[in-house]
Amino acid sequence: TPSVSLRQVGKTYPDGSQALIDVSLELRKGDFLFITGPSGAGKSTLLKLLYGQEKFDSGSLTVGGFNLANLRGNQLALLRRRIGIIFQDYKLIPRRTVAENVAFVLWAQGYNRKEISRRLPPTLKMVGLQHKADCFPSQLSGGEQQRVSIARAVVGMPPLLLADEPTGNLDADNSRQVIRILKKLNSIGITVIVTTHDEHLVRTSNFPVVQLRDGRLYQVRS
Ligand code: ADP
Ligand code: ADP
Repeated sequence: TPSVSLRQVGKTYPDGSQALIDVSLELRKGDFLFITGPSGAGKSTLLKLLYGQEKFDSGSLTVGGFNLANLRGNQLALLRRRIGIIFQDYKLIPRRTVAENVAFVLWAQGYNRKEISRRLPPTLKMVGLQHKADCFPSQLSGGEQQRVSIARAVVGMPPLLLADEPTGNLDADNSRQVIRILKKLNSIGITVIVTTHDEHLVRTSNFPVVQLRDGRLYQVRS
């Protein structure tokens, strides 16, 4: 069974913008997919549908066994626990240290102190930031902040990781570093979806690529 499945999904915002038209897409567990396309093409909207941030109007959508058309009760919360998300602007808590930013996720999910202090070091090490655990976000470079946000996204070991323009604010070197970490996470079995308008980044890798243009999805490379 696919881990993510969209069948002819359509999304129109209340103001009439058609963000997605007839989008069909399937990913299996452990897949890595780039979604490219110009600004306004619908990339963020697609990710928002996957984690239940926006509703869709037509078609069907399932993520890891959850039917997004009718989530009820605490199903949305359960779905979101199984999805890690990374944004272009990191969204770290400014007055919390690196370690606290990452630990917060586990704390919010009810992990105890012992479990949190067991999980934190390997996660920070995975993104190369164990030595920055006590720094505040403002003391870090953009690349380092994005790596903190990756640590935060995966510390709860979600099977699906969504990255919305994760390299949008980064230079070429930091972008490559972020993509390398995403590939490493994929290699341990996490399904990864990355949106980007950076065609160069996509060309220098050989993962599957789809493109969104004006809300329609096109296969680029499988
Ligand atoms: P991308 O991520 O590729 O830049 P988006 O998914 O953000 O594209 O946007 C797709 C289209 O939907 C654009 O025309 C955008 O203006 C519109 N859109 C996105 N979010 C909203 C919103 N909250 N309300 C109305 N229109 C929106
Ligand atoms: P990005 O290109 O980084 O995805 P956007 O500018 O598309 O960022 O979106 C930033 C925020 O503004 C999002 O929450 C999106 O839903 C909202 N938004 C985008 N386009 C519109 C729009 N046309 N009308 C209202 N809200 C929008």
